[in-house]
Amino acid sequence: MVVAQLQEQGFDAFVVGGAVRDLLLGARPKDFDVATNATPEQIKQCFRNARIIGRRFQIVHVRSAGEIIEVTTFRRGHDVSHTGQEARSDSSGRLLRDNVYGTLEEDARRRDLTINALYYDTQSNTLIDQLGGCADVDSRIIRIIGDPVERYTEDPVRMLRVLRFAARLQFELESETEAGISKTLALLEDIPSARLFDEWLKLFMNGCSAPTFKLLSSYQLLVRLMGGGVNDALNPEPAQNLQLLALSNTDQRVADQRPVTPAFLLAALYWPAAERRAATLLTDGESPIQAMHAAGQQIVHEACQHLAIPKRFSLAMRDIWDLQPRLERMQPKKIKDLLAHRWFRAAFDLRLLREETGSLGGDCSAFWTTQQKQHPELVGINRGRQDEGAKRRPKPRRRNRNP
Ligand code: ATP
Ligand code: MG
Repeated sequence: MVVAQLQEQGFDAFVVGGAVRDLLLGARPKDFDVATNATPEQIKQCFRNARIIGRRFQIVHVRSAGEIIEVTTFRRGHDVSHTGQEARSDSSGRLLRDNVYGTLEEDARRRDLTINALYYDTQSNTLIDQLGGCADVDSRIIRIIGDPVERYTEDPVRMLRVLRFAARLQFELESETEAGISKTLALLEDIPSARLFDEWLKLFMNGCSAPTFKLLSSYQLLVRLMGGGVNDALNPEPAQNLQLLALSNTDQRVADQRPVTPAFLLAALYWPAAERRAATLLTDGESPIQAMHAAGQQIVHEACQHLAIPKRFSLAMRDIWDLQPRLERMQPKKIKDLLAHRWFRAAFDLRLLREETGSLGGDCSAFWTTQQKQHPELVGINRGRQDEGAKRRPKPRRRNRNP
């Protein structure tokens, strides 16, 4: 529809990117992106329901049949063109600006992967494949366009994208695409933590988090992304077992279309670090509850040096951790309060993971299973907090679902 309309006005227009790749693979595309030689202003004039958005590079959102189609003007990468315009990079080669318009050929070259640089003309039913994307889809290969080291240097997040697609599509990395990663992985540290968190969500909330985690880990990108807190150097195996179980549970929930929250997964991934820190603090004479609380604060602070975890998630992570020693005590007087805690279910799930993968006995989870059966109406009903934590979050919060 959008493609047809642009073509009627005399422009070139194609469906591009992930949608074409997914169609070739026989999967249902999440969304459709359109690329055209019309400028954002010209695109806007073609549609009634169009809005120009974005400052760094303008894109146009066109509403069509209840969906939003993202329409972008062909752009080119950072090389100097015949018009003398250029997209600039800084002295280290990182791309600062890439909103210079170009031809379809240039637009294809500035994309990340060959499999993402396919253009489909829905009107004539033709596919434009200038960089061998079709062959790579057929042989299930992830290949960076151009020189991998150069492309990763321009934008280090491309390394994460490479592994994300490899895990999600179960494709192999082409050898130079793979070899480049070890040469540029340190550059990920210069990426703003807010962008890394956005990318983290795409990596871990898409239903393939377990294979993605393994790939990131084997290419040494996991620690660059999430910080040292995600690795337990002293006792890696039990930590990894717990993390992988949390990841595969999350993937299963996504597959079943049940709700998932980043807070639970983050709490599980950083749990081994939080637990170890709490143990250190405990030997300094704090009570288990105080030690856990202080450890949670420290681990979240350290994680946020890498990933800008939004407050609503980091507060929930700390609540889930704070509940661990409290659940363990099984104090009759506290049962109702704990059951009603908004993060009770998530904390209980973490306790289950700890029992399944560690050396803890199963009494505590059995106890809380019984309590939940006896008071199902109480579970998670407290949206706010009555205790000292309330000071930490003065604003009323939106309703959130437990994982
Ligand atoms: P998904 O199905 O996950 O949405 P996608 O391929 O559509 O996959 P997007 O992140 O939506 O991925 O990006 C759309 C297109 O923009 C990609 O197909 C790719 O061609 C291009 N692109 C996105 N990010 C980059 C990047 N960092 N460098 C180069 N090209 C990129
Ligand atoms: Mg997309």
